[in-house]
Amino acid sequence: MSTEINLDELYNNSIKILSDLIGFKTISGEDNSNLINYCENYLHNFGATSFKTFDDEKKRVNLFATIKAKKSNGIKPIILSGHTDTVPVSKSWSTDPFKATIKKEKLYGRGSCDMKGFIACTLAFAPVYSKTDLNRDIHFSFTFDEETACIGAPILIKELKKRNINEGICIVGEPTKMKIIDAHKGCYEYTTYFEGLAGHSSMPHKGVSAVEFATKYSNKLIELREELKKRSPKDSVFDPPFSTLQVGGIFGGIAHNVIADKCHVEWETRPVVKEDGIFLNQEIDKYANEVLLPEMRKVFTNSKITKKIIGEVAGFNRVLNSEACEFVSSLTGDNSREVVSFGTEAGLFQEIGISTVVCGPGSIDQAHKVDEFIELSELKKCVKFLDGIREKSSIN
Ligand SMILES: [Zn+2]
Repeated sequence: MSTEINLDELYNNSIKILSDLIGFKTISGEDNSNLINYCENYLHNFGATSFKTFDDEKKRVNLFATIKAKKSNGIKPIILSGHTDTVPVSKSWSTDPFKATIKKEKLYGRGSCDMKGFIACTLAFAPVYSKTDLNRDIHFSFTFDEETACIGAPILIKELKKRNINEGICIVGEPTKMKIIDAHKGCYEYTTYFEGLAGHSSMPHKGVSAVEFATKYSNKLIELREELKKRSPKDSVFDPPFSTLQVGGIFGGIAHNVIADKCHVEWETRPVVKEDGIFLNQEIDKYANEVLLPEMRKVFTNSKITKKIIGEVAGFNRVLNSEACEFVSSLTGDNSREVVSFGTEAGLFQEIGISTVVCGPGSIDQAHKVDEFIELSELKKCVKFLDGIREKSSIN
């Protein structure tokens, strides 16, 4: 291919596309199909093939599109991955959050840095990649509902497995100021519901207090937290080095003198290794089913304890000599590796055998905030980075 690469033009196109993307209101849990259709039509214009996967209601959509290699000679694909949803907005914005506004070298708008900026830059490169004689497939992976415990990505990943797309390099473009992030803890959230039997407080033996059993359950969780500390891996890269657990809320009861028939406990754990999550769930389920429930049912046979999974975001594990990290380092010249405290979809791609790295434009400091922005210089860096991918993915 001999077409001139004009980085200024690509940068300007990124800004245009980012402005379009911000205009689509895609708060987690809401319909994101307009944005996905925009991306899909755009990518089709440049010869991409694609498929979509959906939530149960078919309102929320993941898109996976591919610009095919001309000749791959076994070179593994690259996946450029981003989530299309954003967190909600409050009334205190000083600009319209769904309209891109540029002021003093910053572009404001909900999702500008987390993470429509990255998606926009990748789209701007679609025409370039499609004109390049690629030595590998380049995939675009755009998911829904990442912000609410990575609900969309597992549906997509299941389909990738089915289609044998389970190798290569995945770049998750979350805002890291283009630094390499190669690990984060998992984040598992649960709500456990207790149903007992209401009654008068003067006759405690005739009721089953959901509040009291929820308290016992919470205490057991706190005990297990100590066990998690003891299980801390020696080579842990995290701070703190062990899996954490916290009880975020206990909700139940109506009055001093009424035995509460309902209560629920909201809790979460951030496992450093998957095994800790499994251990914790086994132990707490065993306690609920073998200790608490029989006790509750002695008085009221219809007593119930139900644990609902709110979300289980897989941890992202550091890998020595990671192909993805080395690839990104070769483009950015930065050999540092960092860990972060926020969760991403990276662990899900890693789980199916794809070498994964988190690296994208913008700073997490601006994510989820009122007046979210991305510095234009970050978009510029990302454009240069994506041009590096073109260079490394071109036959000549
Ligand atoms: Zn994000």
